[in-house]
Amino acid sequence: MNDILSNPEFRKKIELLEKKLGYTFKNKKLALSAITHKSFIAESNKGLEDYEVLEFLGDAVLSLIVSEILIKKYPQAREGELSQLRSAIVSEAFLSKLARKINLQEVVLLSKGEIAQRGMERDSLLCDVFEAVFGAIYVDSDYFIDPPRQIFNKLFKDFIIESIEKGKIPRDYKSLLQIITQRKFGTVPKYRFISAKGPEHEKIFEMECIVDKALKTRGKGRSKKEAEIKAAKEAYEILNEEENR
Ligand code: MN
Repeated sequence: MNDILSNPEFRKKIELLEKKLGYTFKNKKLALSAITHKSFIAESNKGLEDYEVLEFLGDAVLSLIVSEILIKKYPQAREGELSQLRSAIVSEAFLSKLARKINLQEVVLLSKGEIAQRGMERDSLLCDVFEAVFGAIYVDSDYFIDPPRQIFNKLFKDFIIESIEKGKIPRDYKSLLQIITQRKFGTVPKYRFISAKGPEHEKIFEMECIVDKALKTRGKGRSKKEAEIKAAKEAYEILNEEENR
C-alpha cells in the first residue's frame, strides 16, 4: 500500500482532492479509494480498492446532512415535503451538479477506455464519486458526522438553499418523475383514470401512471391528484433504485 501512495500520479490526485475540499485526509488510502473507478483497477491492477463501498456509505451520510439542512431551514415543513426535497437534492442530477461545482471530474481515476469516452463527465459517475468522497471523509473522521457535515455545508449549503428558493429543485414526485423519464426515455409520464369507489363524500380514486413501455404503477387517494402523486412516487422510486444500482 505504501508504494501505491508513493506513486506521484496518485499523490497529485489526492492533494488536488484535499485542496478542493479544504480537508486533509489522515488516511490517504481512503481518499484514493474514493476517486478510484473499478475500470481503473481492471486496467492498472495495482492492488487499489474502488469507491463502491464508500459510495454506499456516502449516500447515507449525504442523506443525513441534507436532512439536517432542510429541517433547520424549514422547521414548519411536513415530512412529505421534506422527503421530496431531500430526494431531489440527493438525486443523480443534483449531486452531479454539486460535483461539477468543485470540478470533481479532475480527480477521478478511470481506465483509458473510459477516459476516451469522456466517462468522467457522466452524471452517474460524478454522483457516485461525490458520494464516495463524503463517505471517505466520514470514515476518515472515525465515523463522526461533524467533519463531513462542515465541509458539505461550507461548500454547498448556500447553493442548495438558493436552488430551493428559486424553484430550481422539483418539490413534488410528479416533477421528479418527469425529469428522470425525460432523461431515461425521452418521454413524459402519462396518467390514466382507473376507478373511483366509495360513497360521494369519501370517494377513493385510483390512477395509473404509465412510464414509457417500461413501467406502470398505480396509486390511490382522496383525489385524482393525490392518487397520481402516489403512483408517480412509486414509479420514481423504482427508477431511482435502478439508477443507483
Ligand atoms: Mn450512487
